[in-house]
Amino acid sequence: MPAPTYIQVILPLRLEWEPYYRLPEGVQVDVGDRVRVLFARKEYVGAVSAIDVQPRTDENRILPILAVEEGLPKVLPEEIRFWRAVSDYYLCSIGEVYKAAYPALKIGQEEVDARIRERLETRLERLKDKESKARREDTRERYRTEIEVVEALLRGEKATAVPTPVTLSPAQETAAAAARQAFADGKTVLLHGVTGSGKTEIYLKLAQETLGKGRSVLFLVPEIALSRQLEDRIAAVFPDVQVFHSGVSAARRSQVASYVRKSGQYLVLGTRSALFLPHHNLGLIIVDEEHDTSYKQDAPAPRYNARESAIMLGVIQDAHVVLGSATPSLESLYNAEIGRFIKVDLKERFHSGEEAEIRIIDTVAERRKRGMTGSFSRKLIHEITDALDAGGQVLVLRARRSYAPSVQCTECGQIPRCPHCHVPMSLHRNPDRLVCHYCGHTEPYTGRCPSCDGVLQPLGAGTQKVEEELKTLFPDRRIARLDGDTPDTEEAGIIRHFAEGDIDMLVGTQIITKGFDFDGLSLVAVLQADSLMGQQDFRADERAFQLLEQFRGRSGRRGKPGKIVIQTREPEHPVYTRLNGTDDTDLLAERKLFGYPPFTRLVHISLKDSNEKRLDFLSKELRNALFAAFSATDTPPAVVGPYAPAVDRIAGESIRQIRVSFPRNKALTSLKRTLSQAVTDFGKERKYAAHLAVDVDPV
Ligand code: ADP
Ligand code: ZN
Repeated sequence: MPAPTYIQVILPLRLEWEPYYRLPEGVQVDVGDRVRVLFARKEYVGAVSAIDVQPRTDENRILPILAVEEGLPKVLPEEIRFWRAVSDYYLCSIGEVYKAAYPALKIGQEEVDARIRERLETRLERLKDKESKARREDTRERYRTEIEVVEALLRGEKATAVPTPVTLSPAQETAAAAARQAFADGKTVLLHGVTGSGKTEIYLKLAQETLGKGRSVLFLVPEIALSRQLEDRIAAVFPDVQVFHSGVSAARRSQVASYVRKSGQYLVLGTRSALFLPHHNLGLIIVDEEHDTSYKQDAPAPRYNARESAIMLGVIQDAHVVLGSATPSLESLYNAEIGRFIKVDLKERFHSGEEAEIRIIDTVAERRKRGMTGSFSRKLIHEITDALDAGGQVLVLRARRSYAPSVQCTECGQIPRCPHCHVPMSLHRNPDRLVCHYCGHTEPYTGRCPSCDGVLQPLGAGTQKVEEELKTLFPDRRIARLDGDTPDTEEAGIIRHFAEGDIDMLVGTQIITKGFDFDGLSLVAVLQADSLMGQQDFRADERAFQLLEQFRGRSGRRGKPGKIVIQTREPEHPVYTRLNGTDDTDLLAERKLFGYPPFTRLVHISLKDSNEKRLDFLSKELRNALFAAFSATDTPPAVVGPYAPAVDRIAGESIRQIRVSFPRNKALTSLKRTLSQAVTDFGKERKYAAHLAVDVDPV
């Protein structure tokens, strides 16, 4: 009898090792094959990570695989390499990365193919419709070329790039040349260009060059709402662009994955999870709005940042990486300073307009002068009136969705809180209800205090109230709202209506500050800007600045001057001074002084438990275990905590955090491993692993 053959399999679980399995006689597999196996009495589909291995456990206890899943796609070796890189860096198991990359799927391959066809057919109809409605001959021509491509795809022929040539301005051409040079030197490019400078145009040019060399392109955006306008621009360069984001169904994901797998060449436009498609032959990765925190996944593991992971993927794929932003993250500016990235600047807007003018309104002073009507100062109302009368459109940012962020009893002063979280409940109208923004818990709203039956009074104004106020102030205008309460199905419609000028004023949360290119927008206004800075976080000011600068960039595009009006209780705040002259070095110096990232590396360990006593006890024990583990090292990192975060109870679980801050030196990798091992051992010994989460480079 021949000696049995053993393999290792990656399972979609939080395991530190890749379990061994035996191949039944006559069965052969390759690395990347998908196999069905039993683990702890449950069935899983895993990916073979090694074959012909010599097991290091008792051979008698190794189970045979149950089956080879012939119908499932094979995993590429470079995908496994990427998963390993991500799991090493983010201190999670490779199985957790595998699970994110290959979510369980219920439909078969034929159905996937049928849906791909269906999508192409829908697209063809849409294009034909657009072509017939287009007024300009060159636009019609562009649609006709796209139609030809889609028809070719439907006939099963290969898509070829239809290059609508991208012509760059001299300033853009200089920037593109600098990027090419950096690529040739093996560096990541940080494209720092003001809003409207034509960063997108440069991405498209670089993408086209990459495609011209027969290689593929991955274009990452922080949120999918941003991608709709982009999709059309990209389609002009590569008509067969595939859109991929976390919101799409597992079936749609696998369609795109299957497309990518089959195509010699492809262009994917997607959010962070698009990194985990079966990439091959990738020549360029674009990370647009690289500073955006949506690139970071908080939960579940892998808690990765797509910006850093894109660089790892770039190394594995031998692809160039370009990060772009009008307000780069301090992390990337730092990387540029130490020569890891090459920073390329684009200082002028393409349509050579002035940057939007800034007006700060002091709401404390206005209130004293009786200059406030609800959420609006009289000055802002004038600004809005002027903008609308001149035929412009207006965006109004209020960072809190709801009608009122909280309500209070006028008799006993009580503020109703979520029974499961340590936060006040927000009032929502139509229908009236109290909602917890942390766990979603909802209660009917009667207007009466639950303890004393006194009358409840809304405190403050959220987007819903602001919308109502605007409708009262401007009864003849078309006003809409866009925030977390807007159904996904309506989002695109609202954005399109605004873009086409069918809406005069749009109220919304952060979502309206991002990446949209609206021709008619002449004024953007911020209500209660202080709420943007209010968080106790060393990054709060940086975030507020990025948000305001991005928002400001929305107004006054195409050469028309725009304006940003900011209502605040603290007009002297340094964030506003920074809006006038952009100097990021001060913030970097400040971070250095206090030993914050990027000068150190942070790892958060969070502990969650419904039993608060046990949580307090075990979080201290974990801290002690970390101290002990680090005491044997040469440069022990700083361990802070355990402490309760600002919101310390969510969905019935109390939360504690321990923060470890590592010096940035050669010992970093081994210290991170020490931490990971200590946390894993602790979880095992105390049977507490399910309560622990490790977050590397938290944002
Ligand atoms: P950014 O991405 O930096 O915000 P965009 O690429 O969206 O800038 O450019 C801003 C506007 O200028 C867009 O409407 C775009 O169509 C136009 N534009 C930029 N560069 C060019 C170019 N080279 N040729 C034609 N139009 C351009
Ligand atoms: Zn809650």
